[in-house]
Parts: sequence; structure tokens; C-alpha cells
Amino acid sequence: MSEHQLKDALDSLKQTGVRITPQRHAILEFLVDSMTHPTADDIYKALEGKFPNMSVATVYNNLRVFREVGLVKELTYGDSSSRFDFVTSDHYHCICEKCGKIVDFHYPGLDEVEALAAHVTGFKVSHHRLEIYGMCNSCEKNETH
Ligand SMILES: [Zn+2]
Ligand SMILES: [Zn+2]
Repeated sequence: MSEHQLKDALDSLKQTGVRITPQRHAILEFLVDSMTHPTADDIYKALEGKFPNMSVATVYNNLRVFREVGLVKELTYGDSSSRFDFVTSDHYHCICEKCGKIVDFHYPGLDEVEALAAHVTGFKVSHHRLEIYGMCNSCEKNETH
């Protein structure tokens, strides 16, 4: 499954004319496998052993390239650093308020909410973001043991 996703991602990079360097390949692979919505720093730490000359800035620049071709979404949270999400299908996020973990869940896109918002406000709606906050399983266990 993730093998397939990686191949698709590499194909669409090729189609947009983006050069696939070993670093880009590794970053994509990490994003597809991890499913954890890592920060650029997380990715850097995971891959620095493999690419000693790579900097966090390089990772970030590559992520920006992926974002521009629509392979990843950048999730910004005010002052803390961005998290990166490999785009599969539309999904929403549950976010743990204790440890910051982000977990995907699938729910039909709220198109009718967008349509209503556009109708009421006259906005040309581009997208929306829905996040559910709470405490994840492991944090809850730690609280109650
Ligand atoms: Zn947690
Ligand atoms: Zn996600």
C-alpha cells in the first residue's frame, strides 16, 4: 500500500518536472511511512544519519517543493513549527492537547458547509480545516495509572 503511494508520488513529481534527488526520495518515503505528521525537524532528525550534509533548511525547501505540487499539506499552528501531512484522500485530524499527536480520521468532506458559508458570506471558498481536540489514548493512560 505505502509502496504504491510512494510510486504514485514519485510519478507525479516526474510529471511536474521536479527532479527526484536521493534526499527528496528519502523525505517522501519517510512521509508516506510515518503517518505521524512530522515537522521538518522530525524529518531532519530521522534522515541526518543517511544524509550528513543535509540541513533542516534543505528539508524545509524540499517540503515546500512537495507542497507546491500538491503532494503534502502544511499544517501551521501559530508559533509552533509546521507539521507536514502526506496527502492521501481528504481527511480530518484529531489533535492531542497534551503531546501534540495528530491522528487522521476519515469523514465525508463537509461540502455543504462550504456551500453554505459561500452563500451566506459571498466568499469564494477555497478550502476548510476541521480539527478535533482532546487527549489521545496513551496520554489518557498516563494520567490515570
Ligand atoms: Zn497525547
Ligand atoms: Zn493527516
